[in-house]
Amino acid sequence: MIRIPYGRQDISQTDLDAVAEVLRSDFLTQGPAIPRFERALADYCGAGHAVAVCNATAALHIACLALELGPGDTLWTVPNTFVASANCALYCGAQVDFVDIDPRTYNMSVSALSAKLEQAEQVGHLPKVVVPVHFAGQSCDMREIHALSLRYGFRIIEDASHAVGGRYLDAPVGNCRYSDITVFSFHPVKIITTGEGGLALTNDARLAARLESLRSHGITRDPERMTDASEGPWYYQQVELGFNYRMTDMQAALGLSQFTRLDSFIERRHQLAGRYDDLLADLPVITPHQSPDAYSALHLYPIQIDRSRTDRSRFEVFSGLREAGIGVNVHYIPVHTQPHYQRLGFEVGDFPVAESYYGQAISLPLYSALTEAQQDEVVAVLRELLV
Ligand SMILES: *Cc1c(COP(=O)(O)O)cnc(C)c1O
Repeated sequence: MIRIPYGRQDISQTDLDAVAEVLRSDFLTQGPAIPRFERALADYCGAGHAVAVCNATAALHIACLALELGPGDTLWTVPNTFVASANCALYCGAQVDFVDIDPRTYNMSVSALSAKLEQAEQVGHLPKVVVPVHFAGQSCDMREIHALSLRYGFRIIEDASHAVGGRYLDAPVGNCRYSDITVFSFHPVKIITTGEGGLALTNDARLAARLESLRSHGITRDPERMTDASEGPWYYQQVELGFNYRMTDMQAALGLSQFTRLDSFIERRHQLAGRYDDLLADLPVITPHQSPDAYSALHLYPIQIDRSRTDRSRFEVFSGLREAGIGVNVHYIPVHTQPHYQRLGFEVGDFPVAESYYGQAISLPLYSALTEAQQDEVVAVLRELLV
């Protein structure tokens, strides 16, 4: 039985009260909590607009559509991510390709991106959209990726599912200074939760309007967007094909309540990660590198088994931890090695850095409610397995 999971939500009495209050109110969905949640996150991040949706996968989908990604276009992301970062392109009928990761940060490698763009330009098949993923909560080198976007003319969606509350170059992740759209996830293992939930941020009012339209069937009540005059107060028009990707008001109220503790959650994650760094220092593992440009939200604490210093395999260590009731996990199985992507023509060996990282990776438990005693237990079991 798993006694210490790798990630877990942190729900307070205030959170419970906030949800109960919505349940007693007039609006369970699309009520007043949604715009309040959106405004709170947009202000915190320093972005012009925020659009709340039912999960980050939906946010990625409509972000791609808002950027006009479609058949004949290509989206690039990294293999070291959850499948949703790539699937969003397939939903739009576009193609996916991958850029290998940096061996230190496990984020998109700027040099690999740059080299691949140069080649793609020669054969005339540049990507329309690039999706950098802020792995484990640490921002990618967005300034450099943005500079490449100006040179090669692609758009940028930051998959910041791990990174709400994180910072890059002394500014909040989500300010979209170096991107068109940034996406957050509020799944229970992420930094703050709404159960299921996602958010798309942008500084572009036109993109925000597209995102709002696509989240709710492509329906508008705005006379400005209608093809002809309103027929009366009941009237609406469907002006494009959208979806029902709305967040409920209960979720937004939970999100708002959780949001008041966002900074303290991240401080706690940093304390715990700092303890792991110290406690693991003499073990044959590689601890996660923290870039000086970023203040990570520390969604994950991924270590690698250092095979140059131990004979123990990842399988043995992982299984030993699980048998001891410690819910370790692996982030991520490289997306291009998934059967669905193999059928699209990708092969094992295509992205060696992501594959080699994956081969030795284990995510240790990290969440705000993790106690130091539990953390000491994780380290003690790991020590026993490794020495
Ligand atoms: C969790 C996650 C998603 C999907 O988020 P949902 O809210 O569960 O749809 C997308 N990308 C990354 C990197 C994630 O970790």
